[in-house]
This record gives sequence, structure tokens and C-alpha cells, in this order.
Amino acid sequence: MERQGILETGEVLRFYGALSYHDPVAPALRIIAPRSCLAGWIDVDQGDDAILLGLLEEPGLPRMRSLPGRVTQCPAPGLIHKWFGPGGSLSPAEAQSAAQRECDTLEQLAELGIRVPRVLAVATGRGSSALVMEEIPGRRTLSEVLASASPSEQCSYGEELGQLVGRLHAAGWTHRDLYLEHFLVGSGDSKGRLVLIDLGRARQRHEALPLVIGRRQIKDLSALMHSAPPTLSTRARVAFWRAWCAQVGGTDRATARRVLRIIAGRRTRMARHVPLHGEGSPRPGHLLLRLPNWVGDLVMATPMIQEACRSPRWSRVTAMVKPGLAPLLEGGLFEGLEVIPRKNAAEERRLMKTLAPDAVLLLNHSLGSAFAARRAGIPAIIGLAVGGRGPLLTHALVPPSRGGRRLPVPTAHLQRDVAGLAGLVVQDLHPRLGTSPESVRRVAEVLEELGIAAHQPLILCSPGAAKGAGKLWPTSCFAQTLDGLVEGSNRRALVVGGPGEEDLVAEVVAQAGPGVSALPRLQGLDGLCALIERAQLLLVGDSGPRWIAAAFDTPCVCVMGPNFPELTATSLEFCSVLRLEGLECAPCLERTCPLGHQRCMTELPVAPVLKAARAWLDQPAGVLR
Ligand code: SF4
Repeated sequence: MERQGILETGEVLRFYGALSYHDPVAPALRIIAPRSCLAGWIDVDQGDDAILLGLLEEPGLPRMRSLPGRVTQCPAPGLIHKWFGPGGSLSPAEAQSAAQRECDTLEQLAELGIRVPRVLAVATGRGSSALVMEEIPGRRTLSEVLASASPSEQCSYGEELGQLVGRLHAAGWTHRDLYLEHFLVGSGDSKGRLVLIDLGRARQRHEALPLVIGRRQIKDLSALMHSAPPTLSTRARVAFWRAWCAQVGGTDRATARRVLRIIAGRRTRMARHVPLHGEGSPRPGHLLLRLPNWVGDLVMATPMIQEACRSPRWSRVTAMVKPGLAPLLEGGLFEGLEVIPRKNAAEERRLMKTLAPDAVLLLNHSLGSAFAARRAGIPAIIGLAVGGRGPLLTHALVPPSRGGRRLPVPTAHLQRDVAGLAGLVVQDLHPRLGTSPESVRRVAEVLEELGIAAHQPLILCSPGAAKGAGKLWPTSCFAQTLDGLVEGSNRRALVVGGPGEEDLVAEVVAQAGPGVSALPRLQGLDGLCALIERAQLLLVGDSGPRWIAAAFDTPCVCVMGPNFPELTATSLEFCSVLRLEGLECAPCLERTCPLGHQRCMTELPVAPVLKAARAWLDQPAGVLR
């Protein structure tokens, strides 16, 4: 009751447009498990106030997951720390109640016999809250396990999953984000291996079951059906359904058929990753990959390229790529891949006709590519239904939208789901690139010329942003940050840029002090890969090199302006994204500032960027590669 009152106060203040949220709640700490459970992380002998402050502090690095207002970290073996703060979709009032709400959900579900992570402590403070939970050992998702499980194991998991979800639904609960990725497979062979996680959106409503199944239960089941790997057997799906029906009280055949029809319909209408048409698998044989034209998007696509090369379905895999980006695919990671540079649209049309593949997987968003594939008579044209090209595709995915506007979904997730229509099951979205010995040697020579020793710590800075001036952080800010990192240490900083960014690079170097140099000559993308692999840190705008850093697990600090952080919210293990919070116009997604002031970048201060960069550089050996 008390918590409800607090929420109402917050909501009323927000509703009437109060200028600031006055927190009426005294900070509170609730340690549920024995204090010794937290001993690996915090000093449990200190007073509650100190522990509370420790828990409410926004987690540092490295992070398991990070979105505006939500950060998850594994601060010590066996512990998960979830922090909620104002930002993203969370108001201060919501951020303050989020941890307790999730804790209540976890406790109630545990009482129902549903295996969920055990809560160890909850902290609530001024505008933020935190939850400490027990880590599930092993941490393999059900989706990963099912992809390699034998048919009998699949049935056993299907049955157990049906029982768990049925118990959840029969009690009036819905998860509202129920994908196979949100079930972890705990250790042990006994029943009750599945652990349900990510319950932040779960709610309990008492909707009549089984004759009138609530739309939220339907949504849960549709999401599960959608996230099931194509290799999941029909027997496993039937085992799931039977177990689910048994839990919710049984259904007669007619009702079951009706519900299944609704679920199938819902799945095809789901705003999220909906197959538009072409449910049948494309004919196996030769797969042509039309790769994106942007560095970042191409690097994000590397897990899909690797999976295509490994897949027994595709005996030949060809990649059509912009000539300047082809060096990214060198380095020996993509076995058997034929890389064909494509200069322009006319050449693309000609190549599609000559290659005559069995299927083309369009990982770009171009209408011209879909049109060229159609004219070439390629039997299966697979891609994202955007830019009016939906009718040209034989296998299409509709990106999620609301009110006619596309919702921000990470690009890598969309690429993975499109690849799924080509029969590619991509388990790990972490991008990977390789370097050739030649580029490593070339880079070593250049560094030697600059007087940078082989083991001297190197900070790389890429201030450019090919997708528009609106994303540029002032050169003086880059220079100040580099100075702050180099001063009083034996570190050296190198500023790099692509073709056309020479003036920008020179400007940063001119404003910086000694220890900051420009790369004397362009090294190409393979050279940039070798440099990023060699560096201890990359300081970068919202541009492609941030993804190259992710591919090499090089720590990276990225300054972001008019973009949705959700669009690039993957592979953040070694990346800190810094942006100015609270701007009403952000994110506008424009290439140049429509308001002319570009405040999202010009007002982003140097201090937090410097702090984030230092935090990475100060990581003890062993935490980083
Ligand atoms: S409108 Fe706002 S978000 Fe967009 S570029 Fe300008 S300052 Fe940045």
C-alpha cells in the first residue's frame, strides 16, 4: 500500500507538469538473504547506509547489459546487480519502484513453484533502485540448448516449458516478453531445469482461462512460437502444447484449434519480426549475400555471414559488397566465402543475373537490390520489408512499428531475424573480424615511424561520422579528452579518419597537446582493423569503427547524439555509450541538426567521456583481453 501511494504521488507530480520530482521516500535497504551472500562484492561489515549507497551507485564496467535507465552487471561470481535509474522509458518514480516491483514478481512466482533467480537484496533510493540476485550457473539460454538438443531432449524441454508457462498463465500472470532467450537452463538433469528471467515487465491479471484466453497469454505464446528455432521438432511442440493445456485446465479440441489459430494469426501479425510471406524454406544450394554499404552494418552482419558459410544448407556462399568494404572480410574468418566487389547498381544487376543463385539474402535496405534480384529471376529473395520493397520479396520480415512509425530495434537483431528466413540460426550476435599478417606488419611499421613502441599503450581516436555532420562531437572535445588520457602517462594517442576526413583529423591533432598524433597515411579498412586490434581503447563518434572495436573486444567509448541508443544496443560488453540525457528533440535521427544548434553533441561535456575512458584503461589485467 505504501509503495502504491508513493507511485501515485510521483505520477500526480508528473501529470501536473511539476518541474522537479520531489522524492518523498527515504532510502531503504532490504537484505533478504544472509549478508554473507554479498560478501564477494561488498564489505558486509559496514553499516546499512554504506551498503545502500554501494547498491544504488550506477554499475561501472564491464556491463552485461546497458540501456538508458537500466544496467545489469555481474559484480562478483554468483551475483547479478540490476540497477534502475531515470532515463529511457523510466521516470524517476518508475525507476525508484522498478527493483521492488521486480522483486515482488520474483517472490510471487517462486511461491507458485516457478524457478526464478533468487533475490538477495533490494535497495531503493532517491530516483533509483537496485536488485541483487543470484546468478544462474552456466547461463545457457533454452534457445541455444534446443538448437543442439536431440529429438528426445527437445520433447523433454518442450514438456517442461509447457508446464512452466501453463502454471504462469493459469495463475493469471503474463511475462510480456516471453522469448526462449528468457529461459536459462540450470544445471542438473532433474525436472525443473528451466529458470525464467527478465521479469521486469511481468504482470498479473485475472483473465478467465481456458475458454477465454487473454490476449496477453496469446501474445506470450505467439512470442514463444516465434522464437522457437526452425529445427525444433513437431513432437516437441506438441509436448509443449499438451503440458500447457494440462496446466491451464484442459481445453476441448474445438477450443484448442481455435486458440492455435489465434496464436498463429497473432504471430504473423506481431509487430516484432513478422514473416510477411514465404513461410516455406528457400531451396538449398547457392546463397548470395547482398551486404550493407555501411561499415558498422556490415560488421554487425558478420555473425550471419559466418553462419551462412557454416550452414550445410548452402553449398556455395557468395558475398556482394562495395569494393571499399571488401578488406573487412579478409582475415580468414569466413571459410569458403567468395567475395565479389560491386561497383554500382548496373553491375549489381549484371552480377545477380550471371551468378543466378538459388536465393539472395538482402542484408541492406535498398529497393534497387530487391528490384535487381526480381529482374534476375532469383527464386528466393529474402529481406526486410522496408522502403516499399515488400512486394518484391519472396521471404520478407516486417520491422516492428507503432502508429505507422518504426520502433527502434537493434539492427543486428533485424539482420538475425532476416537470416532466419534463409534457414540460418544465429546464436551469437557478437561480431567477429580477422586481420591479415600483411596489415599487422604495415601498421607495426607506421607505429614505429611515429616512435610508438611495440608494447606502448595506444589510444585510437576516430572523430568522423560518415552518416552526417549532426553526429560530430566538437574537435576541441576530442582533443581535450585525448590530452586528459595521455598527460602524465606513457600512453600515446593516434587520430585516424577515412577518406575526406583529413581536415577533421588535422583539427583534432592541432588542438591537442604532445603525445597526440595523426596517422600519416590512410591504411585502408584492413589497416584500421589491425590498428583497433592493437589499441587499448578507441574513442569514437557514432560510426563504423565502434563496431570494429566490438569485433576485436577492444574497449571503446562512443559519443552519441541524434541516434536511438536502442538501435545499436548490442555487443556493449566492452563499450560505453555517452549521450546527453533529457533533450526533448533527441533522438531526431537526422544527418544534420534540423534546429541548427546540434546541442546533443555540442553540450555533451568532456568530463564523463574522460571518466568512462579512464575506467576502461584502469581495468585490472585479465578483465580485458
Ligand atoms: S534536433 Fe536535437 S537530437 Fe537532432 S541533431 Fe539537433 S540537437 Fe541533436
